[in-house]
This record gives sequence, structure tokens and C-alpha cells, in this order.
Amino acid sequence: MMKPNYVRVVIDRAIQRELDYSVPETLADRIGIGSRVRVPFRDKSALATVLATLDQSDAKGIRPIEAIVGEAATLSESLLALAKWMSSYYCCPLETVMRSLLPQVIRRAEVGWKKQLVVYPPAKIDIEQLEKLRKRAPRQAELLDAIAELKEPIIAAVLLRKTSLDNQTLRALAKRGLVDLREEAVERDPHADEEFIATTNLELNAEQVLALKKVTDAVAAPETAKPILLHGVTGSGKTEIYLQAIRGALERGRSAIVLVPEISLTPQTVERFKSRFAEMHDAVAVLHSHLSQGERHDEWHKIHSGRARIVIGARSAIFAPLKNLGLVIVDEEHETTYKQEEAPRYHARDVAIVRAKMEKSAVVLGTATPSLESYYNATTGKYELVMLTQRVDDQQMPLMRIIDLRQERRKEKIAPILSGKLSQAIEDRLQKREQTILFLNRRGFSTSLLCSSCGEARNCPNCSVALTFHRHPTSAGRLSCHLCGHTAAVPKKCPACGKDALIYAGFGTEKVESTVSQFFPKANVRRMDADSMTRKDAYRDTLRNFRQGKIDILVGTQMIAKGLHFPNVTLVGIINADLALHLPDFRAGERTFQLLTQVAGRAGRGERLGEVFVQTYTPFSPSIQFARQHDFAGYFDQELEFRERCGFPPFKHAVLITVRSAHEARAKLSAETVVRRLKESLGSEFMLSDATPAPLEKLQGQFRFHILLRGAAIIRLSRLVRETLERLPLPEDVIATVDVDPYQLL
Ligand code: ADP
Ligand code: ZN
Repeated sequence: MMKPNYVRVVIDRAIQRELDYSVPETLADRIGIGSRVRVPFRDKSALATVLATLDQSDAKGIRPIEAIVGEAATLSESLLALAKWMSSYYCCPLETVMRSLLPQVIRRAEVGWKKQLVVYPPAKIDIEQLEKLRKRAPRQAELLDAIAELKEPIIAAVLLRKTSLDNQTLRALAKRGLVDLREEAVERDPHADEEFIATTNLELNAEQVLALKKVTDAVAAPETAKPILLHGVTGSGKTEIYLQAIRGALERGRSAIVLVPEISLTPQTVERFKSRFAEMHDAVAVLHSHLSQGERHDEWHKIHSGRARIVIGARSAIFAPLKNLGLVIVDEEHETTYKQEEAPRYHARDVAIVRAKMEKSAVVLGTATPSLESYYNATTGKYELVMLTQRVDDQQMPLMRIIDLRQERRKEKIAPILSGKLSQAIEDRLQKREQTILFLNRRGFSTSLLCSSCGEARNCPNCSVALTFHRHPTSAGRLSCHLCGHTAAVPKKCPACGKDALIYAGFGTEKVESTVSQFFPKANVRRMDADSMTRKDAYRDTLRNFRQGKIDILVGTQMIAKGLHFPNVTLVGIINADLALHLPDFRAGERTFQLLTQVAGRAGRGERLGEVFVQTYTPFSPSIQFARQHDFAGYFDQELEFRERCGFPPFKHAVLITVRSAHEARAKLSAETVVRRLKESLGSEFMLSDATPAPLEKLQGQFRFHILLRGAAIIRLSRLVRETLERLPLPEDVIATVDVDPYQLL
């Protein structure tokens, strides 16, 4: 490599400009594209990433870089190219993209390797010295005896534990020059104390054989292969296909990324991958949000150095610095958690498709309930559709029973929490010693506190939502806001009209738990949601107890809807299927359909047939009816027709601009100005809405206005939006954010 005279960098600050610096002779050998450097910026230093090396630069007042941070170039050229694509597609400055691309511990290089003392086997032992020691310092002699027997280096702490001797003794020996003691970097391995028992490939059934062949063909010829949509019901053996396909990719000298939603990154999942590749030490790196900074540092370097060749992780693992990428798998591709809800607002599945294309890798999207976008791409031939129609164990899909809550209410049982039919079914399971899951996507006890006299609800002072009443810790006996965390005491009388007429309305998981416990006093009922799972191991413990049959009824939010295997669960109750349906969101129906299908997949995985009870006030809505028949194609066809008619994705891309400020009038005025400017610059091929108050008008004290744009040519639309906003000086206390392909429309 030529020694560069100059480099062009992007610094870690929102200045939206690239800057040139000169390279001192002493650093020129080690610098390259993707290096992290420290540079002088204004009167301080800043960290930056090298984007290009240059022979010449026309910039004025060029200053030299100060230092190189970290060891080798941290970003490959292909990852830099991906960052640039994200910057333009998602309307987001490159330095913001960098924040997601490189973990903070790598960007800042503040955390280094953990150092440990290692004792090496001695070249020779001085017998005379040893005998002298035996008299004067018997403990040192004892330690030296142990060291003399070493065949390989040993961590000092381990040696001392084995011999029951202390550090002082070791240091005394070192001082005499009798021991070869070295300080070495050791890896913090979050799975160090677990043992993974090697597993071998299972013999595939006919459908799996075909599916695996499609994937291995794609790995062999990625230039011509299309992304594969692997549509297979839960339990149809998709993960087994991933494992065997990865094995094939490794044999070709390639590496692989497996993306899973954070919530399914359970010990079970990790164990399946670690065990299958157990013979290759360090082959599997795991990236998720619970790693310590040190562990993240080490896992990242394990990948960057090429020792780990399989990366399994949540959303940001798509940026893992693997070389020779051969296969990218996005499991549960329909999951909305793949979308990052802060800048850069990227969708990991879509980034996966782009990265795979740039690096000539195969890509597989696996799911039991494809997103409408991916399904549409499969029907138009952009993706290749591969189906697995059977469960491996030949299990029937569970029976789905729809319960019309309107009728139940007339009968006045304990509807709407538990209809008569659902409570009978639970009773039946308790007698048979089978297990039940009850699902409700809403936390808390009561979802609002109303005055029955004047009708006022207790709202959050910062957000336009009602406060939720919690009975249990963390905010026991108080009202709390699920959006900003504000809490308040429960007033005795209505603060608005002064009457003693406050009533609780609406219910969440806490109330379901308490109602069910009262109704089935002998049953062991447990709740699993963000409130009850604050302790680090609570999630794991609850799942273990449930699996071991110590819990009869598990009540929970979406935490329990995903990727878990419980053979003894034969009943799933969906307490209210309408929650998602009434959100002001064009994906509401799709989400309900997916949720019902996913939750249904939890029932009857063992020998026994499962049953799913769906309680709803809208029993005839298409998402409920098609889910009941397990009719994917039917659902997709009618939903696609609706989306096409209304000009929504996947037929058009959407871009959502949110304009917010603590001053309502200024937010409104700015939003209207943005719309006016956009009207001038956008052609008639794009649809542009007025500036409207967001459904969630006020959030954390900020008033919010929405502008929704739609169009087919997304790259051009993104560019026009970016240019328009860049030219528009907004008042200082007004912020405009851009969300390309938005999933949150609130
Ligand atoms: P999915 O990922 O589609 O939910 P899995 O790969 O987890 O399905 O398979 C479900 C279960 O069936 C797992 O316990 C798995 O080990 C087992 N399994 C998968 N394929 C086979 C096969 N060909 N033969 C026997 N068991 C299999
Ligand atoms: Zn709030």
C-alpha cells in the first residue's frame, strides 16, 4: 500500500461535512480506509473515521492528525459503502450512521483487553535454589514444585487456587527471577462457564432437503441468486436448515450472520448454534444488548480478527465486521424490532439485503408469517419463495376459536377479561395438568383513572395519553406514564370537579393476573412483562419454571409470543385481539394477523392438539378470520389489494417527517412551512399530506406534527426531502426528524 499524504475523514459530530487532514510520516504506515483517528477540530480534539486516503488536498489550513485509535482499520471498505448507502437512503448524516455501525466501545477505544498474569513452564529448574528455598521459604518452594510440573502456560490465579497459595508467594518467586510470569490479554467470554455438547446434522425431510438445496445453491452462486424468502410454519425445521446451510458456507471459506429479534435471543437459541459448531472453538460470536462493554469489545475483536466466523445477534449484528460474508439469515423477518426507532432509522432486514448484495452473499429471510413487503417481493419474482408446509413432528395446527365479546357482555360473566368459554377451557387444562398461556399486549392494572361525574381522565402532563395504574413494583400504587416515565399519586377526589367519583377503567396484564388468580385459587399463576421482569435473570427463571411445569398459567405481553417451545402448553388465550386493530396505522391489520398466527404457534407443540381462544369485539375482521383458517395467501391477497388501492407500502414507499417543539404554535407553523417548501420541490408523482397533529400529539412535553410523503422512487424522494430540509432554517427550538419506511406512525 502507498503511504498516504492526506486522509478525508468524517468526525463523530453533527457537522455534516467531510474534512481533510495531513498524515505525519510516523503514522502513514498504519493508516488506511476505515481507520479510527483522533484529529484536531476547532480548539479541541475529536474522534473520526477515515473515508479515503489522498495524495493531494485542496483544503485550506490543513492540520495533521494526532493519533490512530485502536489497532487495525476498524471498518472495511464494503462496510463504509454500506454506511454511505444508509446515509442517503435513510436521510441521515454519515456520522450518525457510524454510531450504529461501530459499537461505542470500539469507536472510542476506551475499553481495552482484560489483562491477566500467566505463568509459563520454566525452561529449567535450579535444584540448588529450590533446596535452599525449602528451608527458608517452604511455601515458595511448594509453589515452585507445582510450576516445575507445568506442561503448558496457566493463568496465575488458577495456579494459586489449585495450590492454595497466595499472590505474595508468587510475587516473591518472581522477584527472585525463578518464575516466567507474563501479562497477557484474555478474552471475556460471556459463555465461558457453559458447556456446549456437540450436535450433528439431523436427517432432513423432503421439504427441508429442497429448501436447503436452494440456499446452498445461492451460497455457491450469489451473483445470480435472489434473496430467499423461507416461509415455514413454526416448528417446520427452519433453524435446522440455517445450521446446515451455515456449515456449507463455512466449508467454502465463507462466514455467516444470523439476525434474530432481541427477544428471541434466548439461551436456547444461542445454545443451538454454539453446540452445532462446538468443535470449532470460538466460531460463534454472540452480540446482544446485555453484554458488558468489555464483552462487547472482545466479541467484536473476535469477529474482526477472523476467529469468529458465525455471528448471531440482534439488529445491529448486521454490521458485524466479518470478512468473506457468504450467508446472511434474517430469522422472523416480519418482526418490527428490526426497525431502529432512533436515527439512523434503518430496517435491519433491508440493510441485510443491501449488504448481501454489495458483498456477494446469499440472503435468507425466514418466517412463519412473512411481512407484506417480503411476500409481495416473492410474488413479483424479486425474491425466491421457498415453502415448508409441514411441522417436523407432523403436528396439526391448533384449533382457533373466536369468542365474540359483544355476546359475552350480554351474558355478564367476567367478560371482558375472561369469557365463560375461556375460563372453562382453563379449568379443563388445570384438571388435566396441562398448561395455559394468556396473552394481552398491555401492561399495568387499570389503563385509566376516570371521573364518573365530570368524565375527566388523569392524563400525563407531558404526553397526550392517560396514566396507567400499577399495583405492583416498580411504581406500586401509583399512576405512571408508559411513554415518559412520569408518575403521580392516586388522588382521593377528582382534581377537576372535586367529586369523590373516581373509577378505574380498562385493564392490563396485572389485572388479568389478579383476576385469574382469584378465579383459580389453586393454580400457580405468573406474569411476564416488562414490569415483572426487571431483575436480570427473571426472564430465564420464569421460563425455566414454566418449562418444568411449576407454573400452570402464564400471563404476559408480547414477551411470551415469540419463538419459545413448551410441549405441555395446550391452551392459548388471547384476551383482547382488537388492541392493535384500532391503532391509526396502515399495518394494524397485518400486525394482528401476525400476532394471532405467532401466538397460535405456541399451542400444542407436543403430542396433544392445541386450542387457541381469541376474544374480540370485531370477530369478522379479515385479519382474525383468515388467521383462524391459517389462510396466509387469502389474507395477503386481500391486504395487498387494500394497500394498492390506498397507495401504501409495498406499492409505494412512505416517508414520515415529524416536526416537534415545546411551543405548539411554532411546531405547527414550521410544519406548515416544510409542507409549502416540499410542494415547490416535489413533482406530482409524489403524494404529500398536509401538516397534521400526530396521533400522539404531545410526547415528553413536545408538540408533534406529522407530514406523510409517499412515492415509488424512494432514493429520489429521500434526496428531495433531505435537500429541502437542509435549505430550510427552522427555529432553534423546533426539530424535524425524517423516518424513511416508517413503522411507528404515532
Ligand atoms: P423452526 O425454526 O421452523 O421453528 P426448528 O428448526 O426449530 O423449526 O425445528 C423444530 C424442532 O424439530 C426442533 O426441535 C428441531 O430440532 C426438530 N427438527 C428439525 N428438523 C428435523 C428433522 N429433519 N428431523 C428431526 N427433527 C427435526
Ligand atoms: Zn408522559
